[in-house]
Amino acid sequence: MVPLKKLHTFGFETSARDLVEINTEADLFSIFDCVNTTDYYLLGEGSNSVFLEDYSGTIILNKLTGIDVQENSDEFNLSVASGESWHSLVEYTLSIGAFGFENLALIPGTVGAAPIQNIGAYGVEIEKFISSVEYYDIPKGCFNVLSHLNCAFAYRDSIFKHRLFNKAVITKVNFTLPKKNTVESSYAPLNQLDKPTPHDVFHKVIEVRREKLPNPKVLGNAGSFFKNPVVTNEILKKIEKHYNPVPHFRVSKTTVKIPAAWLIDQLGFKGKMYLGVKCHERQPLVLVNIGNGNGEGLLMLAREIKQDVYNTFAIELENEVRLVGNRGLISL
Ligand code: NAP
Repeated sequence: MVPLKKLHTFGFETSARDLVEINTEADLFSIFDCVNTTDYYLLGEGSNSVFLEDYSGTIILNKLTGIDVQENSDEFNLSVASGESWHSLVEYTLSIGAFGFENLALIPGTVGAAPIQNIGAYGVEIEKFISSVEYYDIPKGCFNVLSHLNCAFAYRDSIFKHRLFNKAVITKVNFTLPKKNTVESSYAPLNQLDKPTPHDVFHKVIEVRREKLPNPKVLGNAGSFFKNPVVTNEILKKIEKHYNPVPHFRVSKTTVKIPAAWLIDQLGFKGKMYLGVKCHERQPLVLVNIGNGNGEGLLMLAREIKQDVYNTFAIELENEVRLVGNRGLISL
């Protein structure tokens, strides 16, 4: 058995049957020749997966590295191996004067995980800069490339969560960073900065995230546990009868986004704990392992939050974090 405590940021004391590493793209042929196609879990930095109990399959760990940069008068074109750390890439692009990723500083995880949930923060979604995604097609046993258009990007969503779910190992992400990109500073607290440069935005985002979010190296966690829900105007109106004001942001004429943290906070979950898993006091959207937590505690807390939010607001929260049980993914 292989211990998983250090391979996922929640840090539960669980293990997996075995583990193989992808060090080169060619490794994928031999790995998928040997691994039973239903019996594996693809893992990068383990910042969006929680191993709730011992996993009975093989962990396939992404260690693909390498960054290729081409520059012309209009843009930077980057081809980045999927096992690179996302935040290190943000730092690197800033260091060479390629801008656009600064709003996405400190988002944990690998570059390969970024397109899967179309990571986004402070008004920027990564799809804006993705020209194509290269992947190994597991059922077909060959490499393939998807153009931006064919990735079906949406809010925290892409084809890799649907038709290609568990069928693709992303090997490279190709980005285009235009030299004329404008700084995005419309979201609070960036909107308080006076004519910010990309570096100003980068430092502010880091400051805010460090202030609000617990460091997983100190307190095990997987960042925002639930997605921010998009709801209809009717649901918003019903909530406003009992709570006023209700923070919300317009998504379309008929829908708004309500911060999940606000919903959870209204129900008094801050600080609530089951079996060593606690709803964080500063940011209730983050559930933390206080050191001796386990999967049972996490499920109890997450299920109670989901149920209470539904009972009170008629909003179905969806977990952003992947929950892995003995035989693979499980739902709340
Ligand atoms: P926050 O800044 O308190 O925002 C909470 C929610 O309000 C988010 O859904 C955010 O939209 C929305 N919002 C805030 N200002 C907005 C504006 N001016 N216009 C439209 N919508 C607005 O959230 P937080 O939890 O502290 O997270 C900070 C940022 O990191 C947020 O942008 C959040 O979405 C992002 N984040 C991303 C991931 C990920 O990619 N997996 C994980 C955690 C947090 P958006 O969702 O569109 O940003």
